[in-house]
Amino acid sequence: MSKQPVIIVKNLRKSYGQFEAVKGVSFEVYEREIFGLLGPNGAGKTTTLEIIETLREKSEGSVTVAGLNIEKEANRIKQIIGVQLQAAGYYPSLTLVELIRLFAGLYNVEADPMEMLRKVGLEDKHKAKYKELSGGQKQRFSIATTLINRPEIIFLDEPTTGLDPQARRNLWELIRQVRDGGTTVVITTHYMDEAEQLCDRVAVMESGQIIALDSPDSLIDQLVSTGFERKKEVKKASLEDVFLQLTGHEWKAE
Ligand code: ATP
Repeated sequence: MSKQPVIIVKNLRKSYGQFEAVKGVSFEVYEREIFGLLGPNGAGKTTTLEIIETLREKSEGSVTVAGLNIEKEANRIKQIIGVQLQAAGYYPSLTLVELIRLFAGLYNVEADPMEMLRKVGLEDKHKAKYKELSGGQKQRFSIATTLINRPEIIFLDEPTTGLDPQARRNLWELIRQVRDGGTTVVITTHYMDEAEQLCDRVAVMESGQIIALDSPDSLIDQLVSTGFERKKEVKKASLEDVFLQLTGHEWKAE
């Protein structure tokens, strides 16, 4: 994998009044990787991401996205990134095809709605309205909308929250496909199994600071090398394995 940095964050700080939510973080995201931002509630992940997405102003530090400065070139950055809309942004009575046409119009780009839906396994649902989709289908659709402007980088904020185990796996597969297609993916999640399976590298944030940054494998090895051992003996299978065996692995199962 190429190690070219596509996002460079240096000494980023963000204060809300007297409260400093981000306390001088520095990190790089490489081209074509899945980069995870992890950390407890309130750690400063969303604040950091929204500054990179040019949706919030920083207090101090510097951020470049694909060589573009977030202050001077925010409009150009918006053209090359894909951000998930909150569900409220989807007109509930429009069909998926109509919604993709609408977003393409907003981005001022050409997009083939059926091709976009095919990418996320929703071509069967092209006549469905957003409100008629299941939770997993809504998340997949929301990923399709981040891809409309053929972005270099997409940002996914807790994309699998609330999904069943199979739908989560389907979404991981989709996110890997997006990465393999050449797009850098920045993701937040509270599921550590997801970060372990999906992310090439993760940064762990706590109280506005990055306290670890490496591949999941290296972080696990570092912990094991300190003599750490799990307290409980782990069984050869989990209840999740039982669930997946019982309910099948089919994409359509969702
Ligand atoms: P979560 O995992 O719960 O989504 P997070 O890591 O994304 O959390 P942020 O949303 O970045 O955390 O919030 C970091 C801190 O900044 C929190 O203490 C939050 O209350 C505070 N904060 C966030 N946005 C604002 C705002 N607009 N005004 C004031 N304080 C804010």
